[in-house]
Amino acid sequence: METVLKICKKCGRYGGACSPDAKIHNGCGGELIDTGISHDELMIIRKISSDNDFLDAMIELKKTDIIEYNLKMSQFKTQANQQKQQKGNIPKCPTCGSTNLKKISGLSKAGSVAMWGVFAAGRTSKTWHCNNCGYEW
Ligand SMILES: [Zn+2]
Ligand SMILES: [Zn+2]
Repeated sequence: METVLKICKKCGRYGGACSPDAKIHNGCGGELIDTGISHDELMIIRKISSDNDFLDAMIELKKTDIIEYNLKMSQFKTQANQQKQQKGNIPKCPTCGSTNLKKISGLSKAGSVAMWGVFAAGRTSKTWHCNNCGYEW
């Protein structure tokens, strides 16, 4: 069954995902008002920000400017998907397969070149250091 987001008139808290015919807030017995935001939309908004002010603004925007709202929601969806992809793309050590890696920053690269001169020149092309086996690539 489809769930919708409702807000409690009495305490101002969100009732979370309620069935469309829920009328009373379980927590305080106050009257629930439909926000017009579906549970799926709420999940996307929450991924972008957990701030209630932000959620309020999105609810208001859906009422006042549905075109702008839909535009923003499609942007949020893309953003949320990208975040998911980035998490799936964690680099692994090619030697031992460990994800316990340290990124060799540009600063430390520059520092090692300055300190060790040509001897460390080979290090400059390496980006990752494996904390597990010590391999660098
Ligand atoms: Zn309440
Ligand atoms: Zn390794």
